[in-house]
Amino acid sequence: MQFVTFQHAAGQPRPGVLVDGGVVDLSAVAPDLLTLIQMGEQGLAGARQAITGAGTPIPLAEVTLLAPTPRPRKNIMCVGMNYVAHAYESARARGRPETLPPHPVYFTKAVTAVNHPEGIIPFDPGVSEQIDWEVELAVVLGRTGKDIREAEALDYVWGYTIVNDVSARDLQDQHLQFFKGKSLDGSCPMGPAIVTADEIGDPHNLRLTLRVNGETKQDSSTNDLIFNIPTLLATLSRGMTLEAGDILATGTPSGVGMGQTPPTYLRPGDVIEAEIEKIGVLRNRVGG
Ligand code: ZN
Repeated sequence: MQFVTFQHAAGQPRPGVLVDGGVVDLSAVAPDLLTLIQMGEQGLAGARQAITGAGTPIPLAEVTLLAPTPRPRKNIMCVGMNYVAHAYESARARGRPETLPPHPVYFTKAVTAVNHPEGIIPFDPGVSEQIDWEVELAVVLGRTGKDIREAEALDYVWGYTIVNDVSARDLQDQHLQFFKGKSLDGSCPMGPAIVTADEIGDPHNLRLTLRVNGETKQDSSTNDLIFNIPTLLATLSRGMTLEAGDILATGTPSGVGMGQTPPTYLRPGDVIEAEIEKIGVLRNRVGG
């Protein structure tokens, strides 16, 4: 199933599920999608029942899709340098030796950075002039766990979505770590849907691409992840509780703006499309 958060006729955000012909409202099952995820099997059963019992779905043209979880409970967790070619392009861009991280590199993005499908990415040259793009497969957890074993890690995954890990490279460099440069308002476009794990099948065989104004900049496969999803979840949860509804973006492949010769960054009016097979296209525009 493909779960969304949507607004209809300027009403409150509601949880929904996509079907042929539109969206089925799930607000009778849960007040929001995060709660529905936390309900586990009961939430999914409620959704199935709503699909069967629904009258005419609300046509997609009548709704606005929001980020699937517009206000996650905690920061969006991320992995840096998790594709070989991207780790090398990042090192080259900073004049460092081309090495691969021996362990996953974790950081987070502030919850206030979450942005919606078709949402505007703010552009303020007084804040940053090096706004960059990063298409990423994001894992949404469906169970709470600690010391998760690799062999069981995928049982903790509720579904998958797309995150564009928009990054202010100048701020990332100035402040010596990722948090500030990765957490500007609007710098975490997410969606358009969370696709449940059963519909994705193997998460390590998905093509992911990113286009700026129609020109392909990133084109890779999750097959190229350095640390795969079980390894990431096992390592991250060692001695640290992960909760249902938590989001982990798994890293970006090569082709970011910082790695181009010369480096190219986003400008007002640019349209960015981050696409992942079986999930969809996450489109955003840079504001002025
Ligand atoms: Zn990233």
